[in-house]
Amino acid sequence: MKKDVDLVKIPKMILLEEKEFIKNMNILSKMNNKHINENIAIAISFEDNHYIFINKNEYDNMDDDYKNIVLAHECAHCNGIENEEEADRWALDALKDNEDASNKLIDMWEHRHGYEYLNVNFDLHL
Ligand SMILES: [Zn+2]
Repeated sequence: MKKDVDLVKIPKMILLEEKEFIKNMNILSKMNNKHINENIAIAISFEDNHYIFINKNEYDNMDDDYKNIVLAHECAHCNGIENEEEADRWALDALKDNEDASNKLIDMWEHRHGYEYLNVNFDLHL
């Protein structure tokens, strides 16, 4: 599926000190009635408003490539992609002009998803 760049929803980035971040995760867990186990970043959408809440302490310790991966991944969630692997595939597409970040995400693939990255192209136009 080709992604129309004009339709990409760009979220607002909100950096929170770790304490605040954890407090907000606990509130979100209660609101959603499920445990949200996220200690780096989370995408939240309210109708047409999209936000990425980020743990500032974690973020400050990331290199630029990893920052871009996290933002692209959360941006995928803001664009309606719930599945973690699909969000990473979306991120990989979004980062295709950033070779270092793309390679880093591919290197982390097995750790993130439990198996090696496979470049599967589902867009076969059959
Ligand atoms: Zn995710």
